[in-house]
Amino acid sequence: MNKVNVSNFKLSNGDEIPALGYGTWLGVSEKSSGADQPAEEFGFDFDGTDIPKLLDALSYAIDIGYRHIDTAHFYRVEPEIGQVVQEKINEGVVRREDLFITTKVWQHYHRAADVEVSLRASLHRLGLDHVNLVLMHWPMSISQEGVDEKIDYLETWRGFEEVLKKGLTKAIGVSNFNIEQMKRLLANCNVPPAVNQIEVNLNLSQTYLVGYCQANEVVVVAYSPFGTMVPSRATLNSPEPKLDNPAMLAIGRKYGKTVTQVTLRYLYQRGIVSIPKTVTKSRVLENASIFDFQLDDEDVATLAQFDNGFRTVRPLFWQPYENYPFDVVPGQKHVDIPIAMRKWKNGANGDIV
Ligand code: NAP
Repeated sequence: MNKVNVSNFKLSNGDEIPALGYGTWLGVSEKSSGADQPAEEFGFDFDGTDIPKLLDALSYAIDIGYRHIDTAHFYRVEPEIGQVVQEKINEGVVRREDLFITTKVWQHYHRAADVEVSLRASLHRLGLDHVNLVLMHWPMSISQEGVDEKIDYLETWRGFEEVLKKGLTKAIGVSNFNIEQMKRLLANCNVPPAVNQIEVNLNLSQTYLVGYCQANEVVVVAYSPFGTMVPSRATLNSPEPKLDNPAMLAIGRKYGKTVTQVTLRYLYQRGIVSIPKTVTKSRVLENASIFDFQLDDEDVATLAQFDNGFRTVRPLFWQPYENYPFDVVPGQKHVDIPIAMRKWKNGANGDIV
């Protein structure tokens, strides 16, 4: 069997985080008619059809050497992820102490005391007594009914410091925090965040935010590392590069690597962890086979030119909420938060709390 040898980065708590992890968000299907209907009425729904494929691919990922798994309460797959992890431990493929498992606290649990409630429920679903990292998924606090609870993320952070103290996690961090939010958090915390998980890809280099985090010993984890490069994410107007981009193909040819491998390698050389998601076994292997070549300065300069600030993840329905972290697109018609983004069973196995 092919094996991968994934390099690590160091977290501020002294632990190592594998520079390549396995993403587990299956996404929502957006069947928009473009008509004047609220989003929740046109079938914007969680898509769990690929759960069996995801679990099979995760099992294979652990077999070939992946040690980092990124999940979240919101992803609705924690019970199944926990089962795969347990199977791999029982089979003797891996020990718990060799795995780096991240979960996240959703927007409904932003009162300081609720962070522990959320994390304990995640641990229960995962079948673990601790995770390696728990993240505040977003800086906004929104109830299941879609009410802006306006809870300061500094209050939420006190809950994160508490679960760290109790040993329910080895490290604490944030996700989707912008540079102002990072500065305010770092100036007002007892324990600094070990990680900020944000969208980074060729179109969205996030140079200032990444630079600020790295200068302050906060490791950046890139979600959606392929942006709209892959056919499943490309839209009519999404920018280059795509998988057939000539400049990307030329760099790939130079090293005998694919365009996606060149992309992930570029992020790695910027000191950024990537957590690509794939349910396709050949891509599981492909995505982690990036630690045996080095892009040269000329390639890096070519790749940097694709940065144009284009966001793949831009949830406009959260735009009116306090602490929405991205630049606001003006002139947007009000869109209700789709029900699938507010209410769900705790895991695909049902209401396990
Ligand atoms: P992504 O990993 O950039 O892209 C996933 C898509 O790329 C899937 O359609 C996958 O197809 C395809 N793909 C994967 N490897 C490929 C390859 N080598 N060649 C061609 N296509 C490939 O985007 P993402 O899922 O949005 O982000 C990754 C992870 O980040 C998520 O799973 C989740 O864990 C995390 N995330 C976090 C947040 C946050 O708010 N913190 C937001 C979004 C995502 P197949 O599956 O069909 O192979």
